[in-house]
Amino acid sequence: MRIVLTVWSNGVWPGGCWKSGQSGVRGMENCLFCGIISGKVKGAIVHQDETVVAFKDVNPKAPVHILIVPRKHIATLLDLEPGDEGVIEDVFRVAADVAEQVGIAKSGFRLVVNCGADAGQTVFHLHYHLLGGRRLGWPPG
Ligand code: 5GP
Ligand code: ZN
Repeated sequence: MRIVLTVWSNGVWPGGCWKSGQSGVRGMENCLFCGIISGKVKGAIVHQDETVVAFKDVNPKAPVHILIVPRKHIATLLDLEPGDEGVIEDVFRVAADVAEQVGIAKSGFRLVVNCGADAGQTVFHLHYHLLGGRRLGWPPG
């Protein structure tokens, strides 16, 4: 595993995506979120640091719908490896910070991971949906 560095330009964090051994739809080649993280694909980024990037979902399911994404290309929740604990801790920290930033911390919000077909996962780069700004139904459909 290694960090791919990109040049700082147009406000894009020079961290890029971390290499992963997987290929095909689960690999980082042609991965949409790796593209957004590296700046090759346009994204409405609301937060970025060394390990985590957060950007607005292009098809929001709530008034606030932000994707919290580790820079490391991890295809699904099932692909977490020993040593990834810090990344997940960072994701939760960023989710709380962004919730404060966009004004949904007090009213409440939900942090959701879809894993696999039955959950409807469509992008195979681990991401957490931060949803809020309205009363969210439970249980989810
Ligand atoms: P999943 O279904 O894998 O849990 O979530 C994927 C999310 O990515 C969906 O909510 C979808 O709307 C969002 N998405 C798909 N394509 C794009 C894109 O090009 N840009 C952004 N910002 N979000 C996207
Ligand atoms: Zn990726």
